[in-house]
Amino acid sequence: MNTIRPHRTSDEAKEQVKQYYIDNKAEIIESQKQWNITNKDKMKQYRFENKDKIKQYDELNKERIAAQVSERIHCEDCNCYNGKGNMARHVKTQTHLNNLEKENIASKNDL
Ligand SMILES: [Zn+2]
Repeated sequence: MNTIRPHRTSDEAKEQVKQYYIDNKAEIIESQKQWNITNKDKMKQYRFENKDKIKQYDELNKERIAAQVSERIHCEDCNCYNGKGNMARHVKTQTHLNNLEKENIASKNDL
């Protein structure tokens, strides 16, 4: 039972979950990474045992997944747009790192 906030609507609850994620992003990502490492074999086994199910899911959600991956994200440091699927690679590029460094120097000079 919801004893903490008895009159919380489902929208408020969703908002709270979002806020919690924003506030604890680093911790959550770290614990997810840890989980992935400790459960690597379990995940491998699951993927192996449910190969057909996963294939079917991917096939059914092909368009949605493609749309998600190709969604454009704005990189504030480089002032450019990248596909969502390319963002992890982009943040490792020399161009991005150079821009990030420039940004850091600029913000230090502001202080
Ligand atoms: Zn960038």
